[in-house]
Amino acid sequence: MILLDGKKVSEQLLEELKVEVEKLASEGKKIPHLAVILVGNNPASETYVASKIKTCERIGFKATLIRLADTVEEVNLLDKVQELNEDPEIDGFIVQSPLPKHISDDKVINAISPLKDVDGFHPENLGRMALNMPAFLPATPYGVLTLLDRYNISTAGKHCVVLGRSHIVGLPMSLLMVRNSKPGNCTVTICHSKTVDVKSHTLQADILIVATGQTESVTADMVKEGAVVVDVGISRVADASKKSGFRLAGDVKFDEVAPKCSYITPVPGGVGPMTIASLLKNTLEGVKRKIH
Ligand code: NDP
Repeated sequence: MILLDGKKVSEQLLEELKVEVEKLASEGKKIPHLAVILVGNNPASETYVASKIKTCERIGFKATLIRLADTVEEVNLLDKVQELNEDPEIDGFIVQSPLPKHISDDKVINAISPLKDVDGFHPENLGRMALNMPAFLPATPYGVLTLLDRYNISTAGKHCVVLGRSHIVGLPMSLLMVRNSKPGNCTVTICHSKTVDVKSHTLQADILIVATGQTESVTADMVKEGAVVVDVGISRVADASKKSGFRLAGDVKFDEVAPKCSYITPVPGGVGPMTIASLLKNTLEGVKRKIH
């Protein structure tokens, strides 16, 4: 079993991005500038956003954090989005989820210019991605793709089973795996909460990608010998032995599944670090106008 070390690969990616930023700076070109809108102060969002901003600074990007109160009116958030769409200094921006209940995710995503949508959530980017046209790819699936690529995992002709069909992970992930590209060219099965007998599908997977948010629900009896397993899930599980009182766990029961796998991602240190690196890669690619 080989560990798909997302921490190591993301460090390599960030180093590569840093070199590219230094080159842009030395040529007097524009330094990538990412803005993040954070509504309210959800503790997990605070952590993710702080990490995104810190990573930007580490590789020489400019980063701007825009904080709005969780009572902000939807119209005022949409105005802020429009302002960033029109600001030539900002190359890309994201609106950190989750948003308060009174704000429509769809309205906000649709308001972001597809040219600055570095999270890759806008329908235009999702459509372009599905059609194999240049697009901002959603950061988490993009990170998984890069991880598979950097480990030279062959995907063509393989059966990939994706658990989960969310718009930010499962659905784009399955589209990326079925595309005629490398990595890609898989035969893809997508399972969701209404799928009958999920195990009968997972047992056929050469590549199993799990993004259900159901902590440690994928067990050894559900996985084929020699499968590649990518665990996107991340959640907190109470653990009195830890100083923090919790440990991080994925959607896969790692200890029992890992011995059956050819490759598997750990949690933490697998897909998570790849997500931030992919977001920044998108931002740089946007600056270089490789995307649209
Ligand atoms: P969502 O809750 O939006 O979607 C979960 C999906 O899983 C849904 O499509 C749901 O089906 C499906 N599902 C639920 N139970 C089952 C089941 N038993 N079998 C098969 N499918 C099932 O979650 P996200 O996609 O946003 O996130 C998934 C996980 O990934 C979470 O743990 C999240 O924290 C993590 N995550 C990690 C990231 C990272 O960077 N590492 C980034 C983003 C997410 P249905 O559509 O029918 O409801």
